[in-house]
Amino acid sequence: MGYLDTLKDKRIAVLGLGISGLGTVRFLHAHNLQPVLVDSREQVPTQIWLDSHVPHLEQRFGPLANADLPSFDVILIGPGLALATPEVQQAMSAGVEVIGDVELFARINTKPVLAVTGSNGKSTVVSLLANVLECGGLHVGLGGNIGTAVLDLLAQDADAYVLELSSFQLETTSSLKAKAACILNLCEDHMDRYDDMAGYIDAKQRIYQGCELAIFNASDKDTVPANGAEALSFALDNADYHITQHDGEAYFAFQGKPILPCSKTVLPGSHNRLNVLAVMAMCHSCEFDAGVFERALSEFKGLDHRCQYVDTIKGVRYFNDSKATNVGATIAAINGLADEPGRLLLIAGGDAKGADLSPLREPLAQYVDELICLGKDGGAIAALKAGSHTVADMAQAVRLAKSLAQPQDIVLLAPACASLDMYANYMVRGNDFAHNVQEGEL
Ligand code: ADP
Repeated sequence: MGYLDTLKDKRIAVLGLGISGLGTVRFLHAHNLQPVLVDSREQVPTQIWLDSHVPHLEQRFGPLANADLPSFDVILIGPGLALATPEVQQAMSAGVEVIGDVELFARINTKPVLAVTGSNGKSTVVSLLANVLECGGLHVGLGGNIGTAVLDLLAQDADAYVLELSSFQLETTSSLKAKAACILNLCEDHMDRYDDMAGYIDAKQRIYQGCELAIFNASDKDTVPANGAEALSFALDNADYHITQHDGEAYFAFQGKPILPCSKTVLPGSHNRLNVLAVMAMCHSCEFDAGVFERALSEFKGLDHRCQYVDTIKGVRYFNDSKATNVGATIAAINGLADEPGRLLLIAGGDAKGADLSPLREPLAQYVDELICLGKDGGAIAALKAGSHTVADMAQAVRLAKSLAQPQDIVLLAPACASLDMYANYMVRGNDFAHNVQEGEL
């Protein structure tokens, strides 16, 4: 009997009706299971779909205390709600099984899974990884935190699934048993949801549970599998997958053997070299020849809002790294552009989500010539560097950057913060930056 059959007689709730919650409802409904829909909000963003497609499913929206969670056998919880939520804890104490959609996927799926987590670079790595596997002749389903809900993937005819997983998704997952699993890096993030860094690391480490091969970052000790799984490492040096010099050129390499010149990727910065090494390591058991990686890299121009080149105006280059929503991503962007000619002007600030901003101090001192800050925690970032500027909004930030920049300089938006204090999401913020660069007054 498949796992779905065991759910037939169970009282099931789907808790949290965001994108993945919707995927869960759609999936259960397609398999003739009738969950109760629960959300702490009175109105959910997916209301129109729910009302038109599953109007017969009971909705318990509003304060969770009224949803009687202990009355269910299984709760499928979305990543937006913490397991620590008191009503969820109460249900768990009462013996209710609480799992996420990735766990449900794992219990049903029979295809190989390649899973990636980390604080930064997940979307870039899973997108490139999917490209490489496709170039290698495999038909791949790509989903998870990057967009397509994992349960929606099961309807696709794929040879393997590539999953981007967040710490929130991993918290409620224990049966993944990935063919290869990777933690790219770990830096402080989401400290508004975890008590401390240890809690965040524990959640990320869950990706290695039962995996065949763990891929870790040799320069980031917290990514080393704590469960002793068979492993391969990547790093710029001193790792299985690393960078080496060959014929006077930098190469991606495996245990000293050059694979491909680093010049085959257009992705900027050493952080992206690490991303390519992680992808190569994730493909280790596929034994692809260099041509497969070369083809995939030549097709992959990077994702929008990740150190994305916007324009050159009056000799000044503008880069949009709005997806740099934590300190680690901003440091990677600063370091990645450090060797470029000209000065570096940085626009940063937003909602720091309770993170310690002090690791920014040194790269700001070393590589950033002008710092322009905005948003809720802009003042705290400005305080890290003498002579920095604080402005009210993006239009002012870009105007000031334009007035300070000289030919050859780079203006980089890499906020080190979430956008939600000023924008609907990081994409709207990045677009506002690009709009002000291209349309705003000089
Ligand atoms: P995620 O899905 O983990 O948020 P993205 O690929 O969307 O990762 O990139 C998020 C941010 O992290 C971007 O600002 C990007 O430039 C930066 N970044 C990408 N790869 C790395 C890396 N290996 N280390 C640090 N920062 C990175």
